[in-house]
Amino acid sequence: MNRNLNRRDFLRLAGAGAATAVLSGCTARVHTAPEDLATHSRSNTAKKPNFIIIFCDDLGYGDLGCFGSKKHRTPNIDRMAAEGMRLTSFYVTSGVCTPSRASLMTGCYPRRVNMHEDSRGEWVLFPVAKKGLNPDEITIAELLKRRGYAMACIGKWHLGDQVEFLPTRQGFDYYYGIPYSNDMGSEQRSANPPLPLLRNEKVIEAPVNQNTITQRYTHEAIRFIDANKDRPFFLYLPQTMPHDPHHSSENFRGKSANGPYGDAVEEIDFSTGEILKALKKLNLDGRTLVVFTSDNGASGNYAGSNAPLSGNKGSTWEGGMRVPCIARWPGRIPAGKTCDELASTIDLLPTFAGLAGTRPPTDRIIDGKDIRPLLAGEKGAKSPHEAFYYYYRQQLQAVRSGRWKLRLALKRKTGRRKGEPDHAPPFLYDLTIDIAETKNVADAHPDVVGRLTALAEKAREDLGDINRPGKNQRPAGFVANPKPLILSKQHD
Ligand code: MG
Repeated sequence: MNRNLNRRDFLRLAGAGAATAVLSGCTARVHTAPEDLATHSRSNTAKKPNFIIIFCDDLGYGDLGCFGSKKHRTPNIDRMAAEGMRLTSFYVTSGVCTPSRASLMTGCYPRRVNMHEDSRGEWVLFPVAKKGLNPDEITIAELLKRRGYAMACIGKWHLGDQVEFLPTRQGFDYYYGIPYSNDMGSEQRSANPPLPLLRNEKVIEAPVNQNTITQRYTHEAIRFIDANKDRPFFLYLPQTMPHDPHHSSENFRGKSANGPYGDAVEEIDFSTGEILKALKKLNLDGRTLVVFTSDNGASGNYAGSNAPLSGNKGSTWEGGMRVPCIARWPGRIPAGKTCDELASTIDLLPTFAGLAGTRPPTDRIIDGKDIRPLLAGEKGAKSPHEAFYYYYRQQLQAVRSGRWKLRLALKRKTGRRKGEPDHAPPFLYDLTIDIAETKNVADAHPDVVGRLTALAEKAREDLGDINRPGKNQRPAGFVANPKPLILSKQHD
């Protein structure tokens, strides 16, 4: 990466000025002397930013105080939002864990990397799965590792439980966590092995004591940050909570106004506060981008909230795939701003690549886009996506472009509202005035329906649809003889 590009990157991210200009957001005043820019540019080259992604499991759009929750006390995350930016049209690419996580790791739609469902007909991977994220994919971790980053994944992986697919084989130096969902142990499903906790590639506890899992992830995360304070690092912290069954440690159990679910959310808030405190103490605030978000919407079966959105986890309604997102980087991301432009987890790979002075892979299609202009609060910055696609398993069910969302004409196997006909005609919603998708305006906007229908057809050709392979899909990884992850007596 040459100096010109770094200088341009800096200008773009910092809104062409120093911290004062960034803080003034859309009305950035340019007053930085050229030599200052050169200094910044050099230091930017020398000191690559750290990245932290806190990725909750099944946390809904309306579950945080800063996103409207009246039930949960989330003072630390609310402060994070006040010091950073709320992204209010931030999407995951699937309503469930495995496909959503495949996208975060690869910057691609799940169908692109063939992780949209398991080979056994399940939507997500279950223990002892033959399938996993193909080791030939270049993960966000591998990309940053090549730039000299220290890498840790602490938490739920869910992209394959065979050794070939574990985080340690996908770019992370260190792994600590439960490798799949916390309801997949023998306690809930007797055919499965007891729920394992791994350190790197070894099971160190089974079944894992889930009461202390958020606490232990937090300690591990802070230990990793502390050990790598003098070099660039990437910490991926996919929390096991608040996925069912809901657990929390003694200080939080029974303390929220929303049962075990609320307790788990409030402990995640505490955990986030501890991590931000550690950054401040180590003087890393100014060079660490922290992103807090969720892997999909809240389930309709428990106490989570996707308000004011319709639908739940697993659906292609906004409540299934639009998630709360906060990005914080003091001095670089304007404080207290809200960005309502469409962005997605697939954008994090190209964005982080740019910030680390590299590029996304060029030998394959990457669906994500660089969203640095949005994060910098640049005046007039627009979503880089002409269209965003909502897939349910194999099926393309909706497309969004700008303010419009079209639910496609299809034989709906699921995601159907009560009373909705089996062969529903296309429904068009204007999300800027109808975020809850209640008023079909298709008849008034046939031109928009036509344009979005054409975009959907482009996706079908490229990524595929039910019983229709896409032209540009890549294979997932497979092993012939998967083995269960069980406690070994020889572990250390
Ligand atoms: Mg999930």
